[in-house]
Amino acid sequence: MALIVQKYGGTSVGSVERIQAVAQRVSQTAQLGNSIVVVVSAMGKTTDGLVKLANEISQNPCRREMDMLLSTGEQVSIALLSMALQEVGQPAISMTGAQVGIVTEAEHTRARILKIETGRLERCLQQGKVVVVAGFQGISSTEELEITTLGRGGSDTSAVALAAALRADFCEIYTDVPGILTTDPRLVPTAQLMDEITCDEMLELASLGAKVLHPRAVEIARNYGVPLVVRSSWTNEPGTWVKAPPKSERSLINLELARPVDDVEFDTNQARVALLRVPDRPGVAAQLFGEIASQDVDVDLIIQSIHEGNSNDIAFTVMTQILNQAEAVASAIAPVLRSHPQAEAEEAEVMVQPNIAKVSIAGAGMIGRPGVAAKMFIALADAGVNIQMISTSEVKVSCVIDSEDCDQAVAALRQAFDIKSSPTPPTPSAPSTPHTPPVRGVALDMKQARLAIRHVPDVSGMAAKIFGLLADNNVSVDTIIQSQRCHIVNGLPTRDIAFTVTGADGESAQQMLQQAAAECGWGDVILDNAIAKVSIVGAGMVGQPGIAAKMFEALAQHQINIQMITTSEIKISCVVDEHQGIKALQAIHEAFGLAGSEKVEVPA
Ligand code: ASP
Ligand code: MG
Repeated sequence: MALIVQKYGGTSVGSVERIQAVAQRVSQTAQLGNSIVVVVSAMGKTTDGLVKLANEISQNPCRREMDMLLSTGEQVSIALLSMALQEVGQPAISMTGAQVGIVTEAEHTRARILKIETGRLERCLQQGKVVVVAGFQGISSTEELEITTLGRGGSDTSAVALAAALRADFCEIYTDVPGILTTDPRLVPTAQLMDEITCDEMLELASLGAKVLHPRAVEIARNYGVPLVVRSSWTNEPGTWVKAPPKSERSLINLELARPVDDVEFDTNQARVALLRVPDRPGVAAQLFGEIASQDVDVDLIIQSIHEGNSNDIAFTVMTQILNQAEAVASAIAPVLRSHPQAEAEEAEVMVQPNIAKVSIAGAGMIGRPGVAAKMFIALADAGVNIQMISTSEVKVSCVIDSEDCDQAVAALRQAFDIKSSPTPPTPSAPSTPHTPPVRGVALDMKQARLAIRHVPDVSGMAAKIFGLLADNNVSVDTIIQSQRCHIVNGLPTRDIAFTVTGADGESAQQMLQQAAAECGWGDVILDNAIAKVSIVGAGMVGQPGIAAKMFEALAQHQINIQMITTSEIKISCVVDEHQGIKALQAIHEAFGLAGSEKVEVPA
């Protein structure tokens, strides 16, 4: 006999018939002797409808009243599902978030869960009742006992938090798709269902998977070791298991981390190789990293910032022990890359720097929160640490700095983000088991715009200034890349910094930065709306040479030019021209053997 938390999304309870079908499934599982807590969303598109109503009355409705309004949707579905269960002879009781005791911060429309009282739930389960809980809502920890909501899509978070608090055997998320797919099936019809994915991979795929599974739910599953599965409401197929590390003895108080960063990592065993002025045309990164992979050299970070004239700079880091080997490969290939006719006038050059360190901040809480990267850069600037390279992913920001600065940087970051646990030393390359494919999924993001600031003085504090300004204006920054190339402007070394933002923020961010440019001594601020970001994610790529090369090769074969590259341990992202985004996605998906022959049925 198991304790199971099941969550049913809006479509799964979208009509009377569907609610009855859910009641059948729940009662069958209960009859096998299991204890069940069911979490439901509002029926169908109810929440959207309520938002629309509010907007007809007010352009800017008060957040407290929004919570009062939106929380009603779930109250309808819990009552109806309980009735449907009782109709089929299954004892059941519905409860709102407040009745359960899902206690949250008082932040309306985006509250985080602080703790869950389990007493009443457990008593009802003991009596053989199925408890049907309203998802997405809670009650504030303040005296006023305000109704709060967790943010759109928050029922997943309710379900996994309940599973953690009750120490349930597992949590099942029932939805209208068969599970997590290798990519967006609307763009790539050969997308396949995954049997499993790790929580870390799922978080890095947030832009692909967020609609299927709320990132905050994944974060809780990871932190508390909740076994989690996403499966279809319409079939008995097993779905996709989202695998958490083994259960940890973590306190259930402050259940959802209030802080955006939960770890500071560093690695002093790194060296950097940069190739300056390689031609800006399709196939160059493929050639370079293909050669490197054929020598079995494992690269860690790869960064390519925006091109300049006809050429790019590409930099990567390797473990110090293999620097000589990596440098030899780069030097051997440089003349070949240089032989592009237009690059003749320029001298390509290989630059190595043996004494660098990588410091990173990591945490799922940074997804969608502006200002986290800025805070990192500000902390480093205040500590007098100059940043040489920046690379970002969904849940990590890494900076390459001088290795002499490492201790100071780590201390400053731990203080800035209030990290008490001991700093994480370099993770040994995880041996990838046969079960961990190097690439689990491929995501495409077409909604971003790219901004580049030319000739930013290469002194500490500049990144802090730029991203602080954006954060103050509530602009969320995605990929950040700082170039290698150094220009001397008025006797000062300068570099370009490029980053992506949500398309809608592009123009206002450009204006904001242009205004600051003169005062700060920056060059032009360039905006490009026509970009797409394509990413591969997989825990199995750690310590496996050749994965980046394969991605770049797939793009080269389709004559797709790579505009920017950025990586984290388990993710590689490339920015390409918007018109080539879908082709890039398809090519990469195919190249890693993710395409299947059977079409997975998903609703439009
Ligand atoms: N009903 C809420 C929404 O539509 C919560 C959820 O479904 O997860 O966002
Ligand atoms: Mg959902």
